[in-house]
Amino acid sequence: MVTSRKEKLYLQNAVFMLVAHIVGFYGFYAAVLGQWKRETLILGAVMFCVSGLGITVGYHRYFTHRSFKCGKVMQTILMICGTTAIQNTIKVWVSGHVLHHQKTDKEGDPYNAARGFWYSHIGWILFKDPHRKKGDFSAANHLTEDSWTARLVNFQHGHYLALAIFFSGIVPTLTASLWGDPLGGLVFAGFSRLIVVWHMTFCINSIAHWKHWGSCQPYTRANSAQDSWVVSLVTFGEGYHNYHHAFPGDYRNGPYWYNFDPSKWVIFWLFRIGLANDLNRVPKERIERARRAVLLTS
Ligand SMILES: [Zn+2]
Ligand SMILES: [Zn+2]
Repeated sequence: MVTSRKEKLYLQNAVFMLVAHIVGFYGFYAAVLGQWKRETLILGAVMFCVSGLGITVGYHRYFTHRSFKCGKVMQTILMICGTTAIQNTIKVWVSGHVLHHQKTDKEGDPYNAARGFWYSHIGWILFKDPHRKKGDFSAANHLTEDSWTARLVNFQHGHYLALAIFFSGIVPTLTASLWGDPLGGLVFAGFSRLIVVWHMTFCINSIAHWKHWGSCQPYTRANSAQDSWVVSLVTFGEGYHNYHHAFPGDYRNGPYWYNFDPSKWVIFWLFRIGLANDLNRVPKERIERARRAVLLTS
């Protein structure tokens, strides 16, 4: 990890992450020992999907890239699902991710892969970046274009701690208490699930930008983003990251039918049942043009 510049440890983040990892690993250990009820393990798996998709479909493809449209109810559901992943507020997450696309691999990219694998994976959360202006959400100005979205996002930002504790901690504890396993609910469905979702998301910033992984850049060589079906298997389809950097507005990260992209399938089914509309798809010809351009320059 490159931390040669004057960077201070972000104590609050570091302590929370350390505690979450200790409790989360204990949760897995106890699961192996059969300490949690089967219902609790299922709850953990369900919450993993809810929080993972809350990030990929909600925070990423909807709130950041506006790759589809949806109404007030769906936006609220996406906000709640994303909140359970404890990856900060929509305003903070979206601002950072917009900068990541604007300045990929350069100064100003919050999870700059040029600064090493571990920095892009977790170092950027543990160390304060002196180049990042606290409270500057100008990169996420598009969130204010719709007055309902702006209200929703500001509400979440203003009540984030309470919402995160409630949806990520209290809800699984209370749910698992229905079958007499509240501690399992908190430890396994709360913390163990949380650390898996974190590293799932972090892999997109690290492994999916890691050239040593085995380069796969079919659509653009303008940055370090790679396509990886393996990463997609554990990130709800976000591993087709080279495509995503070439066409960030597309609701799909894996554009072909055989690409494993559960987030794309969820958005498509939301569309089928009337909860999402205006799905943004890049035309086939443009995709093929990009592929040919990369082949010609290689
Ligand atoms: Zn990226
Ligand atoms: Zn993106």
